[in-house]
Amino acid sequence: MSNHEALLKVDSLTVRHESVARSVAALTDVSLAMQAGEWLGLIGESGSGKSTLLRAILRMLPPTSLQSGRVCFQGRDVATLDEPGLTRLRGGSIGFMPQQAVAALNPVRTVGSQVAELFRLRLGLAATAARLRSLELLERFHLPDSLRVFESYPHQLSGGMCQRVVLAMAMALEPQLLLADEPTSSLDAGLRLDLLDEIRIQQRRRNLAVLFVSHDLDLVERYADRLAMLQGGRMAMTGDRR
Ligand code: ADP
Ligand code: MG
Repeated sequence: MSNHEALLKVDSLTVRHESVARSVAALTDVSLAMQAGEWLGLIGESGSGKSTLLRAILRMLPPTSLQSGRVCFQGRDVATLDEPGLTRLRGGSIGFMPQQAVAALNPVRTVGSQVAELFRLRLGLAATAARLRSLELLERFHLPDSLRVFESYPHQLSGGMCQRVVLAMAMALEPQLLLADEPTSSLDAGLRLDLLDEIRIQQRRRNLAVLFVSHDLDLVERYADRLAMLQGGRMAMTGDRR
């Protein structure tokens, strides 16, 4: 990839969600580009297509969703990726914090077993090595007393800590791009800034690109280098932070 080529390029993306009852034009002719290390804030009202865009980037839309246009990551059209290529993309080169990710943590398994599983499945680490890597990861994301966090069930941790665990998991395989879908909506004001400060540390340390989705304009403006706004599935504006 040359220096000038975008890390992520979305060209004329159009997505319709089809069901027996209705057909929803979720995205219409959406284009955007992101460079390495850049923080793009994506805003838009509920239903404007933000989550659809993130899922389209990862090719995670349901099979009933019809799509045209192109998504390229590191110069490669994601539509051409085979299964191993897609696996490397999802959670590998692109970290993903889905909307309501904390609710997606398995409530009947310890946090540690869920983090360690990632290292076992994705990096083929044996149990002991995966455990060590997990503890190290939790520490790196400033989860105090990482051993206690490792052995806790999600309900034993605060919302802020759970969201930090979700961030750590999204970052575990050292992605070049983080897609964060309303990662702070369940947190109170102070914890919001804590989490975003943590993402900013990662952004600067590793030249991570961040696509941050929120409907909180103040929050987006505080962190983003650039803003994009979806309105009814169309890109209503893009521009530098004021
Ligand atoms: P946002 O994240 O901005 O709230 P979404 O991308 O979730 O918006 O949704 C955009 C539109 O697509 C909404 O009208 C929503 O109801 C519809 N939609 C999203 N996902 C699906 C789906 N899997 N099946 C049918 N409709 C969907
Ligand atoms: Mg959404």
